[in-house]
Formats: sequence, C-alpha cells, structure tokens
Amino acid sequence: MPMVINEGDRLVLKKKHPCGGNVFTVERAGMDFRLRCETCGARLQIARRKLEKSITGRITEE
Ligand SMILES: [Zn+2]
Repeated sequence: MPMVINEGDRLVLKKKHPCGGNVFTVERAGMDFRLRCETCGARLQIARRKLEKSITGRITEE
C-alpha cells in the first residue's frame, strides 16, 4: 500500500540530518521529494522509496 505523503507534512526520519535534527517538512512531493530540515533549514532531495523506509513518525498539529 503506497504511503500518502503530502506537501506540508512534517516527518520524523530514522536518519538524522548532519545538524542533529530529524524532523523534516515536505516541500515538494513526487518521484523525488524535497525536504527541509526544521532544525537548520537545509533542503535535501530524497527518492520516495528511500523516504518511505526512513519515516518513523509524523508530527500533526490540531
Ligand atoms: Zn539540519
């Protein structure tokens, strides 16, 4: 079952960013996803399959 990941989602990833942060915001969805590290603001690109494997949680706001 494909995982639903939308732009604006906040994801907690298994792999930490070099800055130590592990919460990322999805800026662009597609075959490749563009994420922004919430800790340092850096942007990175990651393949969907890799991203799906790395997600350990989501941050949702009411
Ligand atoms: Zn970072």
